[in-house]
Amino acid sequence: MKTRRWAIIGAALLLVTDVMLIDVLRKDRAAALEHGRETVDGIATIILHRTDSLVDMLDRTLSGIGEAVSAYGRPPTDDDRYLHRLLMRRHAITPELAWLAMTDTEGMTRSSSRSFPAPRIDTSDREYVIPQLQHWDHGFHIGQPIISRSAGAEFVIPVSRRLVNDGGVFSGVVIAGLRSEFLQTLVDDPRPPEGMTIGLYRRDGAALACLPTRADCPDAPATLMQIVAPSQAQGPARFERVADHLILSTEHGVSAVQASDHHPLFVVVDYPERHLLAQWNANLPIFVLIALGGNVALAILGVFGFRQLARRREAMEALAESNRLLEARVRERTEALAKLANTDVLTGAHNRRWLMEEGERLFALARRHHHPLALMILDADHFKSINDRYGHASGDAVLRTLAATPATVLRTTDLFARLGGEEFGVILPATGREGAIGLGERLLSAMRDAVTEHDGQRLRFTVSIGIAVLQADDPSLEALLHRADLALYQAKASGRDRLALTDSTPS
Ligand code: GH3
Ligand code: MG
Ligand code: MG
Repeated sequence: MKTRRWAIIGAALLLVTDVMLIDVLRKDRAAALEHGRETVDGIATIILHRTDSLVDMLDRTLSGIGEAVSAYGRPPTDDDRYLHRLLMRRHAITPELAWLAMTDTEGMTRSSSRSFPAPRIDTSDREYVIPQLQHWDHGFHIGQPIISRSAGAEFVIPVSRRLVNDGGVFSGVVIAGLRSEFLQTLVDDPRPPEGMTIGLYRRDGAALACLPTRADCPDAPATLMQIVAPSQAQGPARFERVADHLILSTEHGVSAVQASDHHPLFVVVDYPERHLLAQWNANLPIFVLIALGGNVALAILGVFGFRQLARRREAMEALAESNRLLEARVRERTEALAKLANTDVLTGAHNRRWLMEEGERLFALARRHHHPLALMILDADHFKSINDRYGHASGDAVLRTLAATPATVLRTTDLFARLGGEEFGVILPATGREGAIGLGERLLSAMRDAVTEHDGQRLRFTVSIGIAVLQADDPSLEALLHRADLALYQAKASGRDRLALTDSTPS
């Protein structure tokens, strides 16, 4: 029963510590995720800010070219070196660009920063030129990435702007090819942590660039578009502002989505959970091992402690048991010794010491309550001659008979003891003179009838009895004993095998 209680307490303690450990782990994981959320949001903010600045700069470059062309006053033509040099100079100071080009009002390239004369390419059906030719009224346009042969087959993001002359008449399109690697330069400092992916998208979800660099970046998934632009209109977007700090926690990890306030762009930074929690995951087995080790150690300690307790208890019980046994033996021995001290060895009757102790008690009681009390001394007659005729052993046998005989006559409250030699004493409580004499007679008779068979002999004997009864002025039991002794002397003197009684000590 006790074992079960201890086991339950121990198990409960283990459970509580384990639950606490698991809670610590859980909080640690939550803290790591929170840190991840802060990281993706911070990186998204930096990238968006830098992208905005870059696009602003491009816009200014194209506007500047537009103003220069307008001031020049002539539409782009194949043989115009001035426009070629204008594009070359602008290209030279903008390292993010793969090229700068100009088309006429039909979308045919007329000038390029890279070659003179420019290769004639019909761009009228290009996604990045159509809006300008069709006079969509938003000036600056960011197109979808293309593979640019003239730039060594690298991905470039074409951005375009309409050219208008002094009179406000459409005179062509200026196009800049932005190397999609520019994104890499934006995130060189701070470098994003291992496993993080970054995507830059146009407002309609078209991918512009992504990291780590891939040849072809996928467009934004439909699920993301539902979040970024739930009311997305078809066609090149009217720019709609969305929540500029959007952090998503998915089953894959955490993501930050931030849309630009100035341009139709948004940035998505993904941090997959397995990377985000890499450190936590790496620490987990160690943590679990430590926890398991702690459990095992606690359990062993518990079992060990419990065993020690059990052993101690057993030892205590054994000690208590042996103490009980010892005490019982001592008690037995003490009782035996006490009995021995009060017993006469030869006859088995009580001895003089016992009779005097018990007698003093009865004497005091009788005196206090004025009850009668009588005392007798019995002495074997001519006992010396029994010894002489039959031997000492026969004498002993006679003494044993003598000691056993009064039991048939005396009451249970009467005291009987061997005083010494062949002399015996009797104390009779609540017995007066007459009673004592009656009892004395019966004793004499019983002794006469008693036969001792020893060594093939049948031995008979008689006793003489001296009686004294309590007097009001008796100072002690000794006084009665003394008077009984005198009476015994009288009984002997007057012929033996009889009793005598003295009422008072002769003065
Ligand atoms: P009386 O009738 O006058 O009493 O004569 P008695 O012989 O009995 O008296 P006495 O005092 O002369 O002798 C007592 C004898 O009792 C002496 C002693 O040897 C004997 N006696 C005392 N104790 C023992 C005992 O333990 N065993 C035996 N066998 N004899 C004992
Ligand atoms: Mg004697
Ligand atoms: Mg005698």
